[in-house]
Order: sequence, then C-alpha cells, then structure tokens
Amino acid sequence: MNGYILETDSLTKVYGSHRAADGISIHVRKSAIYGLIGRNGAGKTTFMKMIAGLANPTSGSYSINDHSGNELKDVRKLIGCHIEAPGLYPDMTAYQNLKCKCIQRGIKGDEQINDLLALVGLSGTGKKKAGKFSLGMKQRLGIAMALVGSPDLLVLDEPINGLDPQGIHEIRETLLKLNSLGITIMISSHILDELSKIATDYGIIHEGRLLEEITAEELIAKCKDKVMIRTNDTQRAMELLENSGISDCTVNENIIEINGHITETGRLNSALVGAGITVDEIYVQSESLEEHYLKLTGGEAK
Ligand code: ATP
Repeated sequence: MNGYILETDSLTKVYGSHRAADGISIHVRKSAIYGLIGRNGAGKTTFMKMIAGLANPTSGSYSINDHSGNELKDVRKLIGCHIEAPGLYPDMTAYQNLKCKCIQRGIKGDEQINDLLALVGLSGTGKKKAGKFSLGMKQRLGIAMALVGSPDLLVLDEPINGLDPQGIHEIRETLLKLNSLGITIMISSHILDELSKIATDYGIIHEGRLLEEITAEELIAKCKDKVMIRTNDTQRAMELLENSGISDCTVNENIIEINGHITETGRLNSALVGAGITVDEIYVQSESLEEHYLKLTGGEAK
C-alpha cells in the first residue's frame, strides 16, 4: 500500500487531434482535499471523467486503492462523482431524487437518505421540488447524490461555480464536514482563493498538462513572504535600500517589493525616515495561490 487512494500514470485523452488531458500523473493521499486547478478548457473535467469511468483514456493508467486495470470495476464504487450539471429530476423532492439514486445503485432501504440530507443541510426541504432549489441547494443535493453508497473518494467538478458567497460558504462547510468523516475529496475549481481555504494538496493543470503537484505546506513554504513599502520617493528609497545591501527588490506600481527580510521592517522604516523619505505604508505580504498559479501559467487566472 502506498497511501494513495488515487494515482494516475500519464493519463491521456485525445479528442480528434486535441490532447484534452496530456500525460497527467497525480497522487491523491487518503483523507486529502485535493484541489485540481486550471482555467476553463484546461482539461479538469476530462481528467475527472476518466477516473470516474465516464470516459475511456486514450493512453495511460490509474489505480484506486492500488487496484488498476481489470480490478477497477471492483473498486469503482469507492468513488462518488458530481461532474458537470447534476442529473437531478426537477419534479422530485430531494428525498425522491436520492431514493432514485439508491435504486440505480442497487441499495435497498431508505436508512441512508435522511442521513445524507442532514449531512448536506437539506433535511428541512420536505415537499419542495428540486427544480425550485437555489443553485447552492442543487449543488448540495448533487453532492448528496454522489455520496450514495458511502464512497471513500468524492470527485467534484466545479461545485462552487456560480454560487453567491453564502452558497460557497455552505459548500465549504459541507466539504470540511465530509472530510472530517474520513472522505477524501478531489475538487476542481478556478476560484483559487476559495480553494486555498480548504485544500491540503494541489494539482495545477494547464492546456491538458500537469504543471505542478504540491501540498499546501509546500506551497506556503514556496510562496515566500515579502516586505512591501510605499514611499513619497520610490527612486531614492530604492537607492537607499540597495546601498544598505538589500538587492532582491523590485517596484510594482510604485510599491517596492523586497523578497524576505520580513523581520527587518523596523530597521528599514527607520533608515528610510532617517534619510528624509516619507513611508506611507510598510507591511509583510505572502504570495497567494492565485499569484503562484499565474506565475506558473504565465497568464490570467480565468
Ligand atoms: P471547464 O472549466 O470549462 O469545464 P475544463 O478544464 O474542465 O474546463 P475540459 O472540459 O476537460 O476542460 O475540456 C478540455 C478541452 O477538451 C477543451 O478544449 C474542450 O473543448 C475539449 N473537449 C472536452 N470534451 C470534449 C469532447 N467530448 N469532444 C471534443 N473535445 C472535447
């Protein structure tokens, strides 16, 4: 056992001449919340569909709990998926939708249904039809549907897309609750600020390729802290900083960015003020997931 609930090896999907997923090798640790990042068209859905068994890989392989090839059919039930628009019946209640999913999966009895409704915060929806649900409620019902059969790995494609802040908050709380119950979650999103609140691991996909796989701790260590300084005379401030041995600094929109030196803000402030320069702002800032992503992909986040 290698501790990965999901591992892929050069997973590739070609549509015509387009390599939608191009040799993707990722490693999802048990109990992780794995954020799959990429802009629209990067290949996230294609990748998720392959591991969910909804699309055949052109080449490459993957394993679920160390089972691969012909054994995958035996472990497929360990994965619950919510990919693209959830297949909800709009004229049915949440309970009835879940009942249908249980029947499809050959699960007898209704015991699980009320537990699932409680888990995703939809217990009180009674006779309300799913077609009348808010987008956030539909997403949570989609997650409940994916949880039918008690999977160990939940694969969620853009579950917060289009939601308002309250809806995003509810999904975040739901995912954290599920994860605390031991469920591993793979979630795709291009809303990086939100993803960075919950993800323990990241896979960054760009134009079908995996650019980087990194844990949240590694990312924090990599996204170095910077001292940011805004003064009334950027050029003189830069000269003074360079003369005092601080070479790793750049200027961006009149704000001086110094890599490292975060324990020296007092000394830097005194030196600038002592030279007659007015310091309007001086603060420490870390690189965000979004900045890291932009640096890697060399473009815009969306
Ligand atoms: P989005 O966030 O927009 O869903 P994504 O990262 O999920 O983006 P995919 O939906 O996987 O991206 O699409 C990756 C590429 O593959 C796109 O260029 C898309 O047009 C193409 N593609 C996806 N499915 C098919 C298909 N069935 N036939 C042909 N091309 C496809």
